[in-house]
Amino acid sequence: MFKINKVKSRFVLDSRGFPTVQVQVVVEKGGEEFYGLSSVPSGASTGTYEALELRDGGSAFKGKHVSKAIENVNSTIAPSLEGKTFNSILEVEKALLALDSTTNKAELGANAILGVSMASHKAVAKSENTDLFKFINKTYFADHKITKFPRLMCNVVNGGMHADSGLEIQEFMVVPNLGNIEKDVQAAAEIYQTLKSQLKKDGHSVSLGDEGGFAPRIAKSTEVMDYLMNSIESAGYSGKADLAMDCAASEFYKGGKYTVDEIAMTPSELNEFYGKLVNKYPLISIEDGFQEDDFEGWKEMTDKLGKKIHLIGDDLFVTNPTRFAEVGLKKGLANGVLIKLNQIGSVSETCQIINDAKANGYITIVSHRSGETTDAFMSDLAVASQSEFIKLGAPARGERVAKFNRLLEISDLID
Ligand code: PGA
Ligand code: ZN
Repeated sequence: MFKINKVKSRFVLDSRGFPTVQVQVVVEKGGEEFYGLSSVPSGASTGTYEALELRDGGSAFKGKHVSKAIENVNSTIAPSLEGKTFNSILEVEKALLALDSTTNKAELGANAILGVSMASHKAVAKSENTDLFKFINKTYFADHKITKFPRLMCNVVNGGMHADSGLEIQEFMVVPNLGNIEKDVQAAAEIYQTLKSQLKKDGHSVSLGDEGGFAPRIAKSTEVMDYLMNSIESAGYSGKADLAMDCAASEFYKGGKYTVDEIAMTPSELNEFYGKLVNKYPLISIEDGFQEDDFEGWKEMTDKLGKKIHLIGDDLFVTNPTRFAEVGLKKGLANGVLIKLNQIGSVSETCQIINDAKANGYITIVSHRSGETTDAFMSDLAVASQSEFIKLGAPARGERVAKFNRLLEISDLID
């Protein structure tokens, strides 16, 4: 049993220099106080069906200020939680979620609710004198003992909405497979540095996109994949690192066609294009290969490639248990779910969809957003949920590195 003494929000800056919601929660247990502090991430290529991220509009921060969301925490959520006693974090989640009657958190804002949810988990974990990942595992994933680390999906070349590279495909990732978290982190960093030298040598820009990957002006996605393969080989990791892509296809879908590498393709042609990439490269995962409502395109891809590689729904499922059940399970689309806390707006609902995915044979990938802070909550979630992968950007820039480094920290904390 614990009491919530304080819930307080303010703005801090995210990695793009835009404001985001930070929340501090203080719980009291056994006469002692315990603090939890969390900051909410933010996407750029957001899915249509995501919960509402409340922004002010107007002129402050170019319309992106979050003062209304902060006010909702301080004036609505705080008074309804402060001074109350709870038996468990699940009771806090229930009380918190009951404060917004909409299905997409449009009243208070998903950013307001998630900030309180994450900070509460941190504070209550501390009050139980346990690490966050152990606390989340015990609360939501008691059937899944912590035995392994997720594999790293490292976005080393940025396109789409995250860079001005001109590449339509948003993310080109390397996925080390050394079977050891320290070695995987080292491989990711060495491949990244090698890629930098190779791009430089060929006269390409090595400026960075939003997720810390390079943003060279390369027209063809196969050329990018060739760079990744060369970097893997030159860094000494041949056969020990795979490739993955996040197409974020909603961003290059127009009038029923998909334009990739400057060619407008029908859904069937796009499927053929993906099939060729899978045959040519060790490409183990394609995320959002089709637009979020193009169920026929998704179905064709699932039938064609679903036995060979991971097909991940991000904008397709938006971390929403209801949409996953209706679109994923009922229609038989994809075989993996991308997990982003702020798409649904609470820790408990996020854990629910992870459990739903596991129960139905879908893999899960816990993911950052393109706008991040140094809060590494997602690393704890990825280990706690025993997700197969964690998608955390390039091994560079503070807000990305915080997630890699938290995994290394956790490796010393596992029993
Ligand atoms: P976003 O991109 O955070 O800008 O939405 C990440 C992704 O699409 O996976
Ligand atoms: Zn995505």
